[in-house]
Amino acid sequence: MKDRMNDLVNQLNQYADAYYRLDRPVVSDAEYDQLYRELVELEEAHPDLVLPNSPSHRVGGKLLDGFSKYQHEYPLYSLQDAFSFEELETFDRRIRKEFPNATYICELKIDGLSISLTYEAGQLVVGATRGDGSIGENITENLKRVQDIPLTLPEALDITVRGECYMPKVSFNRINQIRQEAGEVEFANPRNAAAGTLRQLDTRIVAKRGLATFLYQEASPTEADSQSHVLDKLTKLGFVTNQDYHLAETIQDVWDFIQDLASRRETLPYDIDGVVIKVNNLAIQDELGFTIKAPRWAIAYKFPAEEKEAEILSVDWTVGRTGVVTPTANLTPVQLAGTTVSRATLHNVDYIAEKDIRLHDTVIVYKAGDIIPAVLSVVQAKRDQQEPLIIPRECPSCGSELCHYEDEVALRCINPLCPAQLKSKLEHFSSRDAMNIAGLGSSIVEKLFSANLVHDVADIYRLSVEDLLTLEGFKEKSATKLYQAIQASKTHSAERLLFGLGIRHVGSKASKILLETFTSIPNLAKADLEEIATLEGIGAVIAQSVTSYFASEGAKVLVAELELLGVNLTYLGHSLATDALLSGMTIVLTGKLERLKRGEAKAKLERLGATVTGSVSKKTNLVVAGSDAGSKLTKAQELGIEVRDEAWLESL
Ligand code: NAD
Repeated sequence: MKDRMNDLVNQLNQYADAYYRLDRPVVSDAEYDQLYRELVELEEAHPDLVLPNSPSHRVGGKLLDGFSKYQHEYPLYSLQDAFSFEELETFDRRIRKEFPNATYICELKIDGLSISLTYEAGQLVVGATRGDGSIGENITENLKRVQDIPLTLPEALDITVRGECYMPKVSFNRINQIRQEAGEVEFANPRNAAAGTLRQLDTRIVAKRGLATFLYQEASPTEADSQSHVLDKLTKLGFVTNQDYHLAETIQDVWDFIQDLASRRETLPYDIDGVVIKVNNLAIQDELGFTIKAPRWAIAYKFPAEEKEAEILSVDWTVGRTGVVTPTANLTPVQLAGTTVSRATLHNVDYIAEKDIRLHDTVIVYKAGDIIPAVLSVVQAKRDQQEPLIIPRECPSCGSELCHYEDEVALRCINPLCPAQLKSKLEHFSSRDAMNIAGLGSSIVEKLFSANLVHDVADIYRLSVEDLLTLEGFKEKSATKLYQAIQASKTHSAERLLFGLGIRHVGSKASKILLETFTSIPNLAKADLEEIATLEGIGAVIAQSVTSYFASEGAKVLVAELELLGVNLTYLGHSLATDALLSGMTIVLTGKLERLKRGEAKAKLERLGATVTGSVSKKTNLVVAGSDAGSKLTKAQELGIEVRDEAWLESL
């Protein structure tokens, strides 16, 4: 018994360190929670054996070096958790014994990072993490870069507020895609991405990551008499609060809300891991007080883990635009968070080695954000005689030898003529934020390659209507339309072309900054490294990548060819909204909105980078539906398009 408790404490402390301090969890939350429960049960049965370093009487984890420590004036707590209706009933009975008429407020348990904001005379003076509850990290400069945190309040108040800083799913997917293309380690989930971002030492990176907040607590003394009034007050002060809360008279009512939420959890634009149930009346909260670690007036119901076991049947290796070779496991199909999953990413070769993943292993599969499911770990107990996975030495597309650079986790094909890379380069070139050539998607690119009509991006400007007519499925009208779209792209402002060239580390925002300064691609190609590196928002890595790109013979030839073919190489001053939260998304508004005017809603979506269109089609990424929504909503549901409501739009 003693040994088991000792083992559990050591193991949990190690996991908590990886999770809280390094933002790189080594086990899933469900696994952690299960071990934690086991420990708590043993501690309850044997109070004399409780170890002094047990995680059961500590909030959070150790602090990271690099930030100054901040002593919280009002401590932060963890929450007692519940995994079933029975556990909620036990909580309810305990509350009702003392306060028979208590009512509850149910709030979404946002899966982010606790933050504490202190204002003096209405000015933000300190922003800090929870840390161990009494001492956190002072991350004020980073939190100032989170756009929805007010720096000044409308009243000159001294106030400390608490809430959650999180990464919306769209930002998470965008960042992981960029990281994957750059051969960097992807974030395991939006929570780790948010935590990792807030602990960045470079505030410019924080500003780019699209973090957001929900505030829910006034930690300094308040004159409000209930939690719902606190939320009202915080909203009036300019904080973002989550309006998707529910006031409940009974625990059954709480449970109904949880069930409702579970059914629409996937459609929320952020990750939640449960529902926090709080006694609404603050005077009752005061009387109930706290345990060493958590308030007695609240409990966190946690959703069952979105994890399943599956067997790895085979592994596909695919080459992306930048030559990164990504392994994807084909699995025995499993139901996960409402969809059938039969493929999951294995991230990269280092990940496979670290987790010792083998063919025919039974593995835990989970969904992180909205992205493709991932393999979390191997179920060792089910391991038999599995052979190690064969890591390819040669590119699955062109057969040239793959490289595994020391500073990278991924394998890379460095052959500039690799067909798989050329195809995805061309898809990237024609994508919305680059040359925006409507109709030139992956299937047409595939056909053009198979027909030997294109070999690099310049070739698309050599295509004639007659060439396109030779492709299967093309008629005069469709061929002319694609031809015209290709011609139209020649006149775009050159930052689109620069982004479209797919230079490593050069995203759409960097492209714009570079061309605003150097005004044309030939000028940029002549610029020297220092000149580029000193630009605000650029830095040494991008500068190095740009200069090496333009130094290569291939790039010189390509740019010259594009110029000869009539493609504009000059900056014309148009802006790209690609860094915005909804950049590149096509959204349809339908039904009656209660609070926002239709024009306001449209303007907000457009400000956030979306294109708002009038009809639902396969190209629609998302539908925002108000009340009485009719055929557009039905069509969206038929096509399996995500549907969000007005509250979602307001929360952005
Ligand atoms: P918790 O996550 O269970 O709950 C407390 C936190 O909930 C608060 O600090 C706050 O940040 C957050 N929260 C979100 N919305 C809230 C709302 N509306 N009102 C109040 N609080 C809200 O507790 P914890 O102490 O932060 O962490 C423990 C959990 O972390 C574990 O149960 C486990 O799931 C996870 N964990 C995982 C690992 C791992 O290795 N995977 C390691 C350590 C901890």
